[in-house]
Amino acid sequence: MTEVAENLAEVQGRVKAAAERAGRDEGAVTLVAVSKTWPVAHVQLAVDAGQRVLGENKLQEGQEKIPAMDPGIEWHYIGGLQRNKVRKVFGLFSWVHSIDSVKLARYADGVAADMGVKPKVLLQVNIGAELSKGGFELDEIREHFAEVLELEHLEVRGLMCIPPAVSEPDQARPFFQAMVSLRDELVAKHGVGLPELSMGMSGDFEVAIEAGATMVRVGSSIFGARTYGV
Ligand SMILES: *Cc1c(COP(=O)(O)O)cnc(C)c1O
Repeated sequence: MTEVAENLAEVQGRVKAAAERAGRDEGAVTLVAVSKTWPVAHVQLAVDAGQRVLGENKLQEGQEKIPAMDPGIEWHYIGGLQRNKVRKVFGLFSWVHSIDSVKLARYADGVAADMGVKPKVLLQVNIGAELSKGGFELDEIREHFAEVLELEHLEVRGLMCIPPAVSEPDQARPFFQAMVSLRDELVAKHGVGLPELSMGMSGDFEVAIEAGATMVRVGSSIFGARTYGV
């Protein structure tokens, strides 16, 4: 067994245990293996071990890896999204976790219409109200959610967050719980389904699952510590 395969099995075990602790079904949580900065040969080790859902945060890396790998892989774009990259991102990735403003949502809807695609998207929320982070502010998503829902060429599947950096994983719990509350509030007010909550990374995915995450984005715990980039 390769080290990546061992890491993957360990992370899968931790996902399952966290789901069980929360009384949730293990199938309720999708593990998105974040392959950023790693070359195809290294990422392939996880695919060989059965991983079929991968995440990247840069278009350029997707352009290198996606065409070179198994077409059955489901690719998730999880990085900041600039307008001039939307078209290419929609061409390569079936999920985008990082729609972070009404303006971007409108623009992306137009691109999707033009391309004849309907990508699955998540709305990124700046749940810690950090000046340095992108994402919808709480009041902004409350005010504009209906407008985003009306965009016919985006399939809005849920919410995503990157909580503030903390020293202990448990300190992220209130932010994850705030995401669940926000989701419940939007679902109740607008009568829509928002099944997905993308939250939790290597340092805190178990806490995120206990709180209600349906997608966890795990990179370094599977592929190893990154030596360059973010
Ligand atoms: C890099 C990255 C991750 C994974 O981070 P790890 O700490 O390596 O698990 C998750 N989400 C986003 C948005 C990222 O950029």
